[in-house]
Order: sequence, then structure tokens, then C-alpha cells
Amino acid sequence: MKRQKIAAVLGGADINQDVLVKGWVRSFRANRFIALNDGSTIKNIQAVVDFENFDEALLKRVTTGSAIAITGKLVESQGAGQAVEIQVENLEVIGDANPDEVQKTVMQPKKHSMEFLREQAHLRFRTNTFGAVFRIRHAVAYAIHKYFNDNGFYYLHTPIITGSDAEGAGEMFRVSILDPKNPPLNDDGEVDFKEDFFGKQVNLTVSGQLEAELGALALGQVYTFGPTFRAENSNTSRHLAEFWMIEPEVAFYDLKDNMDLTEEFLKYIANYVLENCADDLEFLNEREAKEQQQKPQNERHELSLIDRIKFVANNEFKRLTYTEAIDVLRNSKPYKKGKFEYDVEWGVDLQSEHERYLVEKEYKCPVILSDYPAEIKAFYMRQNDDGKTVAAMDVLFPGIGEIVGGSQREERLDILKKKCADFDVPEEEIWWYLETRKFGSVPHAGFGLGFERMVMFVTGMTNIRDVIPFPRTPQNAEF
Ligand code: ATP
Ligand code: MN
Repeated sequence: MKRQKIAAVLGGADINQDVLVKGWVRSFRANRFIALNDGSTIKNIQAVVDFENFDEALLKRVTTGSAIAITGKLVESQGAGQAVEIQVENLEVIGDANPDEVQKTVMQPKKHSMEFLREQAHLRFRTNTFGAVFRIRHAVAYAIHKYFNDNGFYYLHTPIITGSDAEGAGEMFRVSILDPKNPPLNDDGEVDFKEDFFGKQVNLTVSGQLEAELGALALGQVYTFGPTFRAENSNTSRHLAEFWMIEPEVAFYDLKDNMDLTEEFLKYIANYVLENCADDLEFLNEREAKEQQQKPQNERHELSLIDRIKFVANNEFKRLTYTEAIDVLRNSKPYKKGKFEYDVEWGVDLQSEHERYLVEKEYKCPVILSDYPAEIKAFYMRQNDDGKTVAAMDVLFPGIGEIVGGSQREERLDILKKKCADFDVPEEEIWWYLETRKFGSVPHAGFGLGFERMVMFVTGMTNIRDVIPFPRTPQNAEF
């Protein structure tokens, strides 16, 4: 008999037919009811055992965490909680799980702390919460590829090992095969990277944007979706040392086009998850609702998880300039009452507390801030006519803060060269980037979406470590 996935069996296999399912036992109650999960859905299938027909020694091995195969007739369920169940005719234990050891793991069916679950990242997939999170993570990745494919973008693979550190000054991971105890030295006594694998210093990429621009200036519209590395020593709930970033880049786009693309794209992902991840979302919605009850009223979400996703899908994002935002912030209650930790004046980089105020208190919706002071943004962002600001945009989400950073790029060679000088970006390092501005340069724009931040938003997870299978953070690279 051919094995069927539990999702397919629960989703409408014929009643009174024999089925074969394989999976991991979640529980075995009263020597009679097995709850079996195979990862294809958050739902378990119930399998009913008539213990008189089975060897006692065999049934003893059916314990939480063990892997089994079951054949039996699919029937309408007598009990509440499920429409159908399997009357077990044949049962085989494929992999045992020692109950004493399972006790010590996150497979033990009870509430575990998120920290404990992280320590057992190798087993946390077996829990309902992480099953749901990683099925949704997959759906978001698929939705992203689908959106771009359906809209005529090409998936461009930009390098992970990069020779330029134009963007990452100070926060890049070096890649080297030199012996750290005895590196070759040059005449000045410094490490001689000419003798290293690539004959120069190279690092792990912090962004594929500069390379994506090269692709966009011929292919028209491209996107990257790959791992990104930042050696920033910020141990926050929103930063990873290794994360995934999506970076579309479009020729002949200005900042307004870029904002429209971002908004449509983020709404598409929200809708995709609502339409395709209903079971997992309902579980996470329920889970969050229970957790919210433990919290003081003023720390609770105003909307449930599902309603927050619907809100993003159905409402226009608020758009305002950095300069306008500074005014709003300086006129706000917390500013006037001295409640902000960091000062607000034109020219400063907005802190998380300011962004959260705008999104969560002032506008209560996603916000696109644009036209930031040139000094606090990257060298490649297009200079505005005022000479002070650049055509940059950040998208801020409730509960997350910055989820997208983007801009229209500087396409004018003379201005770009001047910016390189101002920002100490050596021209010889990115000669290839500058060269695109010599041959048919055109206005173009793009943005970077932090994949894990988007997954946080649609799952309601509050720590970024809980939406990536094996998080990499300062002092932590287990598994
Ligand atoms: P932040 O201010 O939150 O550190 P950033 O300004 O450094 O973000 P960008 O360089 O614009 O971010 O990167 C684009 C997007 O990548 C961000 O909007 C965010 O969603 C995501 N991102 C940036 N750094 C990290 C990180 N360390 N871990 C996870 N996601 C990140
Ligand atoms: Mn950062």
C-alpha cells in the first residue's frame, strides 16, 4: 500500500478505505488512542488500537516521540475533536524513543520556555509551535518567489563571499584560510592577504544590492534571496548574525515606484499566508491569545495575530518624510514629557522607541518614512534636489520596527563619485559598480526585506531566534 500524508488523509480521503500513514507519536492515551503527526499538517490523526489484538510488548514501544507506521481502515470518528480516525489493523514501530529520555526534552507534551526550546533547536521542530512556524516560513519563501516570478522579475544569485566592504564597514565576517597562529606578513608587518585564498581580503556579504543593481541594469528587474551576514554585536530580539534577505532591484523606477512595489509585495505575502496557512495561523493565533492574558493590559496587542495580518493586507501604509516625522515626534506627548530616552532633532537617526511611537501610537499602521538626511544613509542613495536629503525609504511595522530599507540609487556618475569620497568608499574597490553609470545609466531603485522579520510578523513570534531553524547570534553557533 502506498503511504499517504496525514494532511491528505484528513483533507478528504475516502471513508472505509484502508490507509497507510507514517509519523511520530505525540501521545498514546489509555492504551487505545494514538495521536500521530507526520509534519504535513499541524493536525494529528487519531488511530484507535484494540489492545487485545496486539502484542503487549509492541504497544509498550508506542510512546511519545517514537516513529510508527499504521495501516487500518479510515472511519468516521465516534469521539469529539476529529471527523475521522484510523482503526488500526497493523502497527509497526520504525524507531523507538526511550520515555525516560523523552521526559527531558521539548517533546514532553507540556509548556516549555522559549529558552529551553532554543537549547533543543534540534528537537523543537517536533512541537506544534515550531512545526507551525517553519511551515509558515516555507510558505512565505514560496510566496516571495511566486510574487516575483509572476511579476516578471529574475532571481539573481549574488555572491556570498565578497571582495568589497563598501557597505559593511566594521561589521563583516572575514573569510580566510591563513593560519591564524602564523599568518604571512608583508614588509610593514601586517598580515599579507595576497597569500590568502583569493589573493585579497574577502568577507561574507552584508547585502547583495550592489551586484543586484548590475543585473537590473540589463535584465530590467531582478531580486536576490539569500543568506546575509552581519558581525554587529547587537544582542537584540530583532538581529541575527546570519539572516536571509530579499532584495529586488528595478530599472527605470523612482522612489515612489519603489514604495508602491514594497507595499504591494508585503500585502501579497500577508494575503498569501492568510489564504494558505489557515491551520497553522489559527494555532499561533490561539497560542498568542493565551500568552496575552498573562500580560498587563497596556502591553497587550490591540489586535489578534490574524487581525494584524489582515490589517496589513487591507490598509494603506502611511507615507511621510523623515522631516515630517521629526515634527510629529517633537510635538508628541512622550517627547514633551521627556519620555524618550534619545533626543529627537533633524539629522539624528531615529531610534527604535521613535519608530515604535509612530507606528504603534501615532498612526497605528505600517509607516513608510522617506527622504532621510544624506549623512545617516548609505553612499549609493540618490541625492534629492534640496542637497540635504536622499531618496531613501524605511518601512516600519507594528511590533517589529524596521522591516524594509530601500532607496532610489544615485545614477549620476559625478555625484556618485563625490559621495564615494565623502563616505570614504575607495573607487578602486567598486570600479565595476561605478562603471554601470558610464554606459546607459538610468534611474533605478530597490529595497531589502529582512526575511526573518517578515516571518516574525506573520507568526507573532517575538524573538527572531524563534523563526530561523538554527539561529546564529553573538556567542552562539550551536547545531
Ligand atoms: P536595523 O536598523 O534594524 O539594524 P538596518 O538599517 O541595519 O536595520 P538594512 O541594512 O537596511 O537594515 O537591511 C535591510 C533589512 O534587513 C532591514 O530592514 C531588516 O529587515 C533586515 N535586517 C538588517 N539587519 C538584520 C539582522 N542583523 N538580522 C535580521 N534582519 C536584519
Ligand atoms: Mn543594522
